[in-house]
Order: sequence, then structure tokens, then C-alpha cells
Amino acid sequence: MNPDRSKMSPMMKHYMDVKDQYPDVILMYRLGDFYEMFFDDAVTVSRELELTLTGRDCGLEERAPMCGVPYHAVDVYISRLIAKGYKVAICEQLSDPKASKGMVERDVVRVITPGTVVEDTILDERQNNYLASFYYNGKDCGIAYADLSTGEFKIAQTTGENSVAEAENILNSVHASEILINSEAKNVLRAEAIYRVQPTLYYDYTYRKSEAERILCNQFGVSTLDAFEVGDLPMGISAAGALMNYLIETQKRSLSHISSIQKVNQGALMFFDSATRRNLELTETIRDRRKEGTLLWLLDKTVTSMGARNLRRWVDAPLRDEIAINERLSAVGEIIKNTRLRTDLSRVLENVRDLERLAGKVAYNSLNPRDVLAIANSLVVLPVVKSVLDKGSAPLIKRLASEIRLFEKETAILCKAINNDPPAVIGDGGFIADGFNDDLDQYREAELNGRQWIRELESKERQLTGIKNLKIAYNHVFGYYIEVTKLNMDLVPERYQRKQTLANGERYKTDELIDLENKVLGAHDKAVALEQAIFAQLRSLLLGIVKDMVATANAIAQADTLLSFALVSIENGYVKPTIGKKIKAIHIVSGRHPVVEKLLGRNHFTPNDTILDADCKTMVITGPNMAGKSTYMRQVAIIVLMAHIGCFVPAEQAEICLVDRIFTRVGASDDLTNAQSTFMVEMIEVAGILHNATKDSLLIMDEIGRGTSSVDGLSIAWSVMEYVNNVIGAKTLFATHYHELTELEGKLAGIKNYRVLVDETGETVVFLHRIARGGTNKSFGIEVAGMAGVPRVVLDRAKEVAKQLSLREGTDTNSIMVDTLGGSTQKQMSLFEQKDENAERILNILKETNVERMTPVQALLVLSDLIERANNG
Ligand code: ATP
Repeated sequence: MNPDRSKMSPMMKHYMDVKDQYPDVILMYRLGDFYEMFFDDAVTVSRELELTLTGRDCGLEERAPMCGVPYHAVDVYISRLIAKGYKVAICEQLSDPKASKGMVERDVVRVITPGTVVEDTILDERQNNYLASFYYNGKDCGIAYADLSTGEFKIAQTTGENSVAEAENILNSVHASEILINSEAKNVLRAEAIYRVQPTLYYDYTYRKSEAERILCNQFGVSTLDAFEVGDLPMGISAAGALMNYLIETQKRSLSHISSIQKVNQGALMFFDSATRRNLELTETIRDRRKEGTLLWLLDKTVTSMGARNLRRWVDAPLRDEIAINERLSAVGEIIKNTRLRTDLSRVLENVRDLERLAGKVAYNSLNPRDVLAIANSLVVLPVVKSVLDKGSAPLIKRLASEIRLFEKETAILCKAINNDPPAVIGDGGFIADGFNDDLDQYREAELNGRQWIRELESKERQLTGIKNLKIAYNHVFGYYIEVTKLNMDLVPERYQRKQTLANGERYKTDELIDLENKVLGAHDKAVALEQAIFAQLRSLLLGIVKDMVATANAIAQADTLLSFALVSIENGYVKPTIGKKIKAIHIVSGRHPVVEKLLGRNHFTPNDTILDADCKTMVITGPNMAGKSTYMRQVAIIVLMAHIGCFVPAEQAEICLVDRIFTRVGASDDLTNAQSTFMVEMIEVAGILHNATKDSLLIMDEIGRGTSSVDGLSIAWSVMEYVNNVIGAKTLFATHYHELTELEGKLAGIKNYRVLVDETGETVVFLHRIARGGTNKSFGIEVAGMAGVPRVVLDRAKEVAKQLSLREGTDTNSIMVDTLGGSTQKQMSLFEQKDENAERILNILKETNVERMTPVQALLVLSDLIERANNG
């Protein structure tokens, strides 16, 4: 809508001028007790929040569409708009409407966006809320992210061929709710597909390094960024500068808690691509994106929300550093063994509130009296937390104890200052405790006893003067006065100061009355003003300890996470894994999938062993549908991951080598948002793995090549497996229904076959969920379809077709074995047999082509080309 402004009322004109500055943002315009929206914003918001759309005279012929929300409940409406992806600008009244002559002064005081929310009512307390910034210069990437509610600010950079993918993985680990990008990044970052957020294109100039440096130096109050040791991250600085610029532009207030920037420790952390994160269901389930049923859900027994957020960070980015991992494991071990330490820690942590976000509120200046009480109550228990941790002997526990500061002086002041049941807002006072400030006590007494004092003075004056009808009254002009009628005028004492003469009497004041009046009149207002002044002093007292509060909160969060690991490990019978550089294999005895076990019940899960070492780098796992192949492979990945975050693992025994990355390629999924087919998504993920995996990686490959024809699929699965085993040398679990792949055992070093056992002796197939050596050539697909409820008639027909197909092939329908190994005299290509000449030709070409020397993509292209040519005769 573009209404004619010249005819508009001054207020509406002002609204339109402000709105011009915030075209892509919902503008909430304060009018008295409401925030109103007009024109397009009103239409949008009334639709999104199901509010009544009304209208307001605006000087034009037609009324302006309008909808509004009450000011005291505005957070609820803002949170709903933010959740729907909108940004909201708050235009406040800056002058008191009662005192204003003419139009009330109004301006935007803050823009709330998904990544800049700080309100408790909107935030999830158990999860960080990150604003991220991504910079791409056509080659390398810079990344920065910040949590405004805690002040955390991080920076990273990726360079080289895989820079975008690596940057995406780092971004993946923080689940940013808003991502800023420069224009060059628009076509490379898959923000919407991966993070489900629409990236915000931000001004390119803010990404310019000089501008970025300027704004960061300004923010941190330094002349160079040297102290932060980020000089080697120029791209990261660009991203961080733009982020800071955005924060300043939207928040319009002091952001003093963002006082430094830390490098993401890229070398010491493990980042996952989005497919791996999704497939392993680390923090949300694949089916309905809920926390319940995920690894995070299982591990979360944290007592504090700081601990919960820290746990999520640990799960999102496991460690790769042997020493740090073992420090955590020893700490967890001690908490498990030392019952006293465990129970004491649980008990004291219950009394610690969210010191990290409270510190953020101090700095952001959004502190309310209840927050101050929460800080006071938390600071009081810090000495106990420290002494509990001090009793531990594991180095990490000792270190955490030493990182807890005590703030004795501040604690004493706060505890004395704030009362036990303060209101949530400072506007009306009533939160400073009695006895903290003498003047405040007097005002309160005056407020409470004022009337009584006046009545007492009245009767005293009657007695002293003998004037029986003397009265003390009040009006706006004179305040309190003594009134004496004409008849009693001669009894008026000298000390009475005449103020007004009336027709039938006089009005006076006395020194005592003036004193009393000063005390009584405005006692409430004075008390409130004084409380606010005291509150400001308390805030500046706290401002001085914000940094140490955050450091303390961080130590407590870690202690809480370690405690959570210990509790989960005890509850579920986990063991301490042995992990380190010296270990070269993954050796798990009686491993279990922790989440499936939790959901099925401890005694209903069948444990399985795993050995991945030099002799068996690749486990080829075959078995019927529903047998438990995927569960088994995920279980190995999750056990390895749990060891790398420093948690005990669901097994009887586990030796785990250090792993640099975990990759998974599981199941089929369309990426319709990116217009990519199931097979394309699969191949992109496969290509990502082949390019990035190293010999130190763990690969989970489930059903590679299922999204295309049998021949192409088998060929691709085949060559991928060879490449992973022979060229990359990663530890790999490879589940497949292409039973032909089991032929590779004995022909390629490092490949071993495993199958999931079933009991076929009865009428129906019984899944034993037990992994055993050897391959299988049965998938029991039709039997599983029967269990799923596919009608009998369809199943019978399927069996008939299967029989005919196998008769036609003269052998098992799946047997499409291409001997690419050279030298084998076995005849294994049943499908190709029908086209003997082509098959011969393909075999010869393949023998000449040394697949091992090819890049995976080259190998795939050669194979698919050959097969296509063969199929077309
Ligand atoms: P498909 O080939 O059809 O994908 P699959 O072999 O990968 O099947 P899973 O999906 O891993 O089979 O397992 C099927 C179900 O079997 C799981 O949902 C789980 O309930 C159960 N299951 C798997 N492994 C075990 C186990 N070790 N102990 C008990 N139950 C298990």
C-alpha cells in the first residue's frame, strides 16, 4: 500500500516515515497501552496471529487498516511472529504522553530478529540462540556467530577446495536461527536447505575487512585486534564485523557483554555435515524433528540450563584431542565412583540459576528485580559448589573448581538489598529490602503512616490551642494546611503562618506541619525513584563482575554436563572407553545402540561386537530387511561419537581409536527445496564423503546405489567400496542388499563380510538382531512386506514373479557380479551373460582401467558410461 501522505494526520505521517526505514520488518508502533500496526503490516499480522483487523482514521478518505496488541503482553505476540520468521521493530513513546505538548515523541528502540532475541519468554533456556554471519569471496569463507543472550562471540575461517562445505559444517554445529550473508555467498550457501533459515543478505560494505576491523575495535575498545589472535582469519574478521554491525544496527544499545571474540578451535573439534547430523539423530529426530528419541535427549540429565546448553555444544562438536577427551572421561569416572561427590553436586547445582544469561541481562540492561534475586541466590551457593568440586581429584574437576569465582562483596550487598519476593518490573518499586537504605525506610513509613501522623498532629493542635473545630486538610495548591474559623481567630498562636484568608476563616501552616508534609507528600513517588536509583547502582555493581560471572557459569555448565554423563552412564550401565592415539582399531565388545536400547528397554536389545582394524577396515553387512543393519551401524558411530565427547559408552568394553570425522550416508531422501532428486542427493552425499574422508575417518554407508537401476546401483556401490577401502583406507561399515558385494572378501584385503542372523525354522522369519561373520544372499523383502500389512494377494504374486525371474536368470536375480579384479576365472555376471559380447568388452576395458588410480567421480563416470553403452547394445 502506498497511501498519499500529504493528507495524513501528523501521527500517521510520522508512522509512515519510520516505516520507510524498516521496509522488511513488522513495525509495532506504541499508542498508549497498545502497539499498533498499520496498512500491510496490519494485514499480515492479523492473518498470521489471527487478530481482528480494524481501521483508524488517518486523514485519508479510507481508514488505515490497523491491528494492535496490548503492551503488557507484547512478548507473546513477538515470539509468535519471530517463530514464523518475521522481524519486529519496536517504536516506543520516548516522552511522557501526559507531559507532552503536541505529538508524543516516538522512535524505534530495537529491532528483534530470530538471532537477536534475548527475552526469556521467547528463548529456549536449554539451547543457545545464535546469530551467524557467513562471508564468501569466491574462494574462501569466513564464519562468525554470537549469542546475544550470553555474549559468546566466535570466529572461524575455511580455505581451499572444500571451504564452503567445511564452513557449512561449522555453521551446522551451532544451529543458528539467523544467518547473515554477503552477496557473493548467495549462490553457494545452502542455508535454507540445511539450516531451514532464510539467509539475510546484509550490506557488502560491512564485510569489507577495514570496515569490519574498525567496528570490532570500536566494540572491544581496542586499537587493534592483535590481542584476540585473529590476525590469521581475515575472512572470519569480515564475517564478524558484519555481524557486529548488524547487532549495533538492530539493538541500539550498549552491548558491553560482547567484549571479545574467540577462535573456534577448528583443529581440536569434529564437525559433521548435515546428512551425518541428521542420520545419527544427534539433536533432533529424522521423522518429526523432536528432541525426544535423540542422543541429546538420552544424555540430558543436566540440572541447570547452562549445563543443558553446554551439553548440546559438546554433542554438536565432539573433541579430537586425546588429552581433552581423557580429561573428561576421568572426570566422569570419578563422579561415577564417588557417590558423595555425585549427590552433593546434584544437590548444589539445583540452586544455581542461569548465571550465564543473567550476566547477559546485566550487560544488555534488561535486568529486572527477579533477575537480581536469582543472581543473589546463585552467588550465595557458589562457595558450596566450589568446595564440592574441590573435593574431586580428577584434574578437570579441580580446574573447574578453580574457575569458580566467589564474589563475596557483591553477594553480601545483593542479599541485603533485594527482598525475597520482588516484582518482575522495576517501574512500581517494592523490591529493595527494608533496612537497606534509611531514606527509603522513612519514605515507606511515611507512605504507610502518613494519614495517621496528620490526624495525630490535628488533635495535638486542638489541645494546644483549645480550638475544638481546628482541622488539618489538603488541597493541590497549598498542600496540607490548618484551618481555623473566624470565631476562633483570637486563639491562633504566633507560630501559625497565615497562608490564605477565607470568608469565614483562615488557613495556616506550622513548621511541624511543613516537615510532616514533606515526609508524607509524594512518599510513594520518592520511594519508587529511590528504589530505581538503588537498582541502577546494583546493576553497575554487577556490570563490574559480568566477565567473571560468565567464566564461572561456564565452569558450572561443564561440571553439570560431566555430572549428566555420569548419571546416564550409571543408569544405563555404560563403560569407560579406552581412547587415544596409540589405539589403531575400533574394538567394541557387546555394544548397544543407546537410544534404541532406551526405547526398547534394556533387556530387549541384542548387543553386538565390532572389530574394525587393519585386517577389517570395511565390514560388508548383509541381511534381511528389518534385521537391524542400520541400527548396528549407527550404534558403532554413536559409540565412537560418545567416546569423543568424553562420555562412557553402551558396551561391555570399548577401545576406540581417535577419529577425525564421522560420515554417514543413510537411506533415501529427496531434497525438494533444492530441486534435487533422491538419487542426486545420495550421490552428492557420496561425493562429499569420498572427497573429505581420510584414513582416520569412520564411514557409515547404508544402501549405497539404491536410488537407481540395479546394474548402475551395484556398479556404483562396488566402485565406492573399492575406493573407500583401497584408496582412502577409512574404517567403514557398508550395509547392502547387493549380495554380490560379499564376493569381495578374500579378494580385496581389509574387507570382511558380516550378516545379521535370522531364524527361518518356523512359519515366519524371526529377527535375531545378531551380527555374525559371513554373507547372506537373502533379503526376505517379501516376508517383511507381509509383516508390514501388504495384502496377501500382492505377496503371492510377488513370490510368483520372483520365482519366474530367477528361473529366467538361471540363478539368483540379484547376481550381477562384475569381476573388476582381474585374473579371476569365475563367471559371475548373470545379467551381462545375456549380452556376452558387451560384457566381454566391459570386462576388458575395466581390467585395463586401473580403478584404484581414479578419483571416485572418474570411476563412477567410467562405470556408468560403460553400463549405459552395454545396456543400449
Ligand atoms: P532395512 O534393510 O529394511 O533398512 P535394517 O536391517 O536396517 O532394515 P533396522 O532398521 O536397523 O533394520 O532395524 C529394524 C528394527 O529392529 C529396529 O527398529 C529395532 O527396533 C530392531 N532392532 C534392530 N537392532 C536391534 C537389536 N540389536 N536388538 C533389538 N532390536 C533391534
